[in-house]
Amino acid sequence: LSERLSGVFDRLTKQGALSEEDVKTALREVRVALLEADVSLPVARDFVKKVQEQATGQAVTKSITPGQQVVKIVHDALVDVLRGEDDPGKLKIDNPPAPILMVGLQGSGKTTTTGKLAKRLKEKEGKKVLMASLDVYRPAAMDQLSVLGAQIGVDTLPIVPGQKPVDIAKRAKQQATLGGYDVYMLDTAGRLHIDEVLMDEVEQVRNVVTPRETLLVVDGLTGQVAVEVAEEFDAKVGISGVVLTRMDGDGRGGAALSMRAVTGKPIRFVGLGEKMDALETFEPDRIAGRILGMGDIVALVEKAQETIEAEQAERMMKRMVKGQFNMNDLRMQLEQMLQMGGMQGMMGMMPGMGKMAKQMEDAGLDDKILRQQIAMIQSMTKKERANPQILQASRKKRVAAGSGMDVSDLNKLLKMHRQMSDMMKKMGKMGKGKMLKQAMK
Ligand code: GDP
Ligand code: MG
Repeated sequence: LSERLSGVFDRLTKQGALSEEDVKTALREVRVALLEADVSLPVARDFVKKVQEQATGQAVTKSITPGQQVVKIVHDALVDVLRGEDDPGKLKIDNPPAPILMVGLQGSGKTTTTGKLAKRLKEKEGKKVLMASLDVYRPAAMDQLSVLGAQIGVDTLPIVPGQKPVDIAKRAKQQATLGGYDVYMLDTAGRLHIDEVLMDEVEQVRNVVTPRETLLVVDGLTGQVAVEVAEEFDAKVGISGVVLTRMDGDGRGGAALSMRAVTGKPIRFVGLGEKMDALETFEPDRIAGRILGMGDIVALVEKAQETIEAEQAERMMKRMVKGQFNMNDLRMQLEQMLQMGGMQGMMGMMPGMGKMAKQMEDAGLDDKILRQQIAMIQSMTKKERANPQILQASRKKRVAAGSGMDVSDLNKLLKMHRQMSDMMKKMGKMGKGKMLKQAMK
């Protein structure tokens, strides 16, 4: 950290921001929690390091301990890493017939998941689905898929004994085309461990059908192994997504984080049991809570933050309607913007403010400037904050010097405050704040 930045943090620390020590202490426990959840060591280490940089200096919400605040920050960071696609349940399967290749180790849940997914595509998306088993090594495996097919009302490719996986794949493609299927799913054989023969076979199949989606099915109870499996399959065959099975068990699902961090591939579905409808779209929030195992704390912090935001908004609203919007209010806004990572998030929601937010952002009103503006307000006396119009030349000089800024910077801040307070007065008159209240809910 540059001297200047640490100076900023020092100042923040005095006002209830997270100190490096707070963060370090809390993260020690987070690291243990991650490892207990079977997150691989390098991934846990990297993740904690990133969060440490991010968390230090952040403001602590009233009525929450620094430790609790760090847990919340960690939780949000976890969700960020885990979130892959906007809609993980939406597979890229237009252009019929779209091949989906299911790969993974033996017993990971490929056949079961093939059935679950076929059922989902049929019922939720109205797709006509064909399933084919490429598992020629275990005779029972082909029957297993046929039985599932009959159970969920999805067609399976007729079994021809003695055919090689590649030939079955070709036959499935042909049948899917002729039969007017939207999707055909190829359930491959797995081994107990990764081996060359298996990989070559899957590769050949891939070359024959060019899958639209290649889903890696992984047992959510396996930790470290999952990462190796994912890396290997991705390198050799190329995967488009992951399905995490057995998440109905008591594993904490750390594999999800490891795989996501290592391969960068999205987790799309989660298996929650043996039944055909026990498949859900992946929700990063839920898995994050599970990995961290500190859901209570996260909920507590969220509640506290909501309460305080609501209180602040209400107070500010009352003042605005009365045409009072002083420097304390502005500072509160600036701090919220800092927390929300930018102007547009905060102001974009307020009617009439979206455009101004955009202008401010275009004008380079980023974190650094927000911090500088907050510093200038901090250098004002109580009286000046309540009545910024008393800031004449000599007071301006003092305030600017006190915050290490120029008078011209201070003038810009004052002008911004005037504009905002004018706008708020107008809005207050317009709807007695009702509209604003609505927008800030
Ligand atoms: P494959 O060898 O990869 O095809 O694995 P299977 O689909 O045959 O599944 C192996 C076993 O795991 C079966 O007994 C399944 O019922 C079970 N299984 C699969 N997915 C899940 C899941 O999400 N939860 C639970 N509890 N069991 C599952
Ligand atoms: Mg199978």
